[in-house]
Amino acid sequence: MVSIAPSPIALLDAAGGHPLLHRQLFDATTGTYTYLLADVASGQGVLIDSVFEQHDRDLSLIRELGIELVATLDTHAHADHVTGSWLMQQATGCAIGLAKATRAKNVTLPLQHGDQVSFGGRHLDVRSTPGHTDGCITYVLDDQSAAFTGDALLVRGCGRCDFQQGDPHTLWRSITEQIFSLPNSCLLYPGHDYTGRTLSSVAEEKAFNARLGGGADERDFVGHMTNMKLPHPGQIAIALPGNMRSGQPPGEQPVQHWAPIQRSFAGLPELLPSWLAEHSSEVTVLDVRSEDEVDGPDGRIETSLNIPLPELEQRQGELPCERPLVVVCHAGSRSALATQQLLKAGFERVANLRGGLLCWSDEGYPLIGSINH
Ligand code: FE
Repeated sequence: MVSIAPSPIALLDAAGGHPLLHRQLFDATTGTYTYLLADVASGQGVLIDSVFEQHDRDLSLIRELGIELVATLDTHAHADHVTGSWLMQQATGCAIGLAKATRAKNVTLPLQHGDQVSFGGRHLDVRSTPGHTDGCITYVLDDQSAAFTGDALLVRGCGRCDFQQGDPHTLWRSITEQIFSLPNSCLLYPGHDYTGRTLSSVAEEKAFNARLGGGADERDFVGHMTNMKLPHPGQIAIALPGNMRSGQPPGEQPVQHWAPIQRSFAGLPELLPSWLAEHSSEVTVLDVRSEDEVDGPDGRIETSLNIPLPELEQRQGELPCERPLVVVCHAGSRSALATQQLLKAGFERVANLRGGLLCWSDEGYPLIGSINH
């Protein structure tokens, strides 16, 4: 972590803000919503319905906000995408929560109706809401102001019931008895939406859900659900076996990176000063500040090569190809742009020094020519 500032979640607490941090993230390929919840006072949090391909994004947000992840939770074994749960457990040591009924591998928090998942001073209540699959769970926030329904109930719709032990009669009971029994004002956060609708409420779905709202009864709902004639989900052959391992990839473990790269929430590959200090002889340190700054009182890293940012595009030929590049500047902002430019130009082994020379110097590493050293 960058040491120059307290973590953002601590600042929220100091400012007396809302005690719950709540982020809704979106995977455009599968229309999946992922939710990050954290207790602001303690910094502990949970992640609901993560997506394997979005792991770097989710992890960088968790790290940037300074959240201690207690558990990654899934609402069910998805058929359309692979969960990022196993990757998140590997990265943070968090628990993996899923319905016990699913019997998936690597689950460390097998959940049943009535269980609670605590994070700091907050918790989620587990309600069993089968019907889309037989292991579907709705997570209800402790004060019943919000519920995370997965595919049991979507905005103006619901998950299909025609595979994975689905049953429309069961889903009818789950929705009417377990979700519509929540307060009318309870906000409902779905597992998916394909048209940009982000959330709803119990009152809205009771009134307007085309399948079971208004005056519809069980007969109407089952009639609707059994006549939808949906195509078989394309991803199920890959997604379901992957989710039965909680997202652990099959076979041996992947490719080692050239360095312990952390991706920022903005999507940038970054390295920490401590790593660079130990490995500076194995990389080219590229300083993109102006010549005046490099020779000025801020100092420079001893072995660095200086190409100012405005000249970088023309002078890329001067960069040695045989070693990875770590790009630096005063605070990590100009070097972030340089890193993006180099990646775009085809340099594969390139990373930004997180926090720049400010952070490097704050952590006690030397700068040649600096008046502070
Ligand atoms: Fe689903």
